[in-house]
Amino acid sequence: MPPLPRADRCARLRSRLLAWYARERRDLPWRRTRDPYGIWISEAMLQQTRVATVIDYWQRFLATLPDVRALAEADEETVLGLWSGLGYYRRARALHAAARAIVERHDGQFPRTKAEVLALPGVGEYTAGAVLSIAFDQSEAVVDGNVERVLARLFALPGASGSGPLRRHLWRLAERMVPTQGGAGDWNQALMELGATVCTSTSPQCDACPWSRDCAARRAERVADFPGKKAKRAPQDLAVEGLWIVQRGKLLLRQRPQDGAMAGLWELPTRRQAASPASALWSEFWPDQREFEVGKALWEGRHSITHHRIAVQVRRGRAPGRIAAPYRWFAWQDLAALALTGLTKKSVAQLAPDA
Ligand code: SF4
Repeated sequence: MPPLPRADRCARLRSRLLAWYARERRDLPWRRTRDPYGIWISEAMLQQTRVATVIDYWQRFLATLPDVRALAEADEETVLGLWSGLGYYRRARALHAAARAIVERHDGQFPRTKAEVLALPGVGEYTAGAVLSIAFDQSEAVVDGNVERVLARLFALPGASGSGPLRRHLWRLAERMVPTQGGAGDWNQALMELGATVCTSTSPQCDACPWSRDCAARRAERVADFPGKKAKRAPQDLAVEGLWIVQRGKLLLRQRPQDGAMAGLWELPTRRQAASPASALWSEFWPDQREFEVGKALWEGRHSITHHRIAVQVRRGRAPGRIAAPYRWFAWQDLAALALTGLTKKSVAQLAPDA
């Protein structure tokens, strides 16, 4: 790795980027607050989702659960319902658990030391750095995918995206560059904003970049080479069958177990088709050893989740016998607030309520 930049170079780079940020920053709702709770929620949502999508989710979340205590006291279905569609539900559960920890350990006040923030469930270096710098203007660095891309290009850093040596160097670099005399929050947001709007992964706008004259990758005409590509895992194809079981206007869903993939989410009773490759996501039998009557096909579709391409066929079904947990009947109007798997959400959008 190249040596870390000297203080005077860091200062020049900072002033160019901050001047650009003052002109170009997007007006986003969580940028109008210094409330650590709102900033924390936005950071958790933004880690997996585009800004345009997060805006509505963030506003709805804050309107329903406006502070740490409200989140701590909410039931899990409310929290997961507000998260429904953002994916990665483990993060919503971690937020919920962390809110309870903040109430228990810090009397409902977001902690102000890095050690206390890192001790909260599900909070890592990135989130701790983002909240402490943006809400409390503490001199803490952040490294996320945007920061990785921008700094890897600016300094032409070798190494594959996400690899240990590159990550470690990026953290040292970000810590060297973050302002120590105030303005760390703006600096971190400026760095991420540059990655999100100018130094994008597929079409960087180097002519509009405040660092166009400083950038080593640009000078070498090798922008597309940084950061180095990750080795990709080939996606697995799966074929599954879901059951559309409606009785007295209510749909039968099953809650997935509280651990493992899509933990705690609701889905149509689903099994893997016998000819499909094996997968830990679904068994080739109906879950919980239940017997269902399987009728005609209603809908066929496709869905992708991490490393899986799924072909689904939804059939009409009937459920003889008593319905008990983890199965439950749901009225149509309750489905919108329910934390559904992406695949079931798609099926419901296609079929409800006419099928
Ligand atoms: Fe990214 Fe281009 Fe700016 Fe370099 S000059 S930091 S590659 S946008």
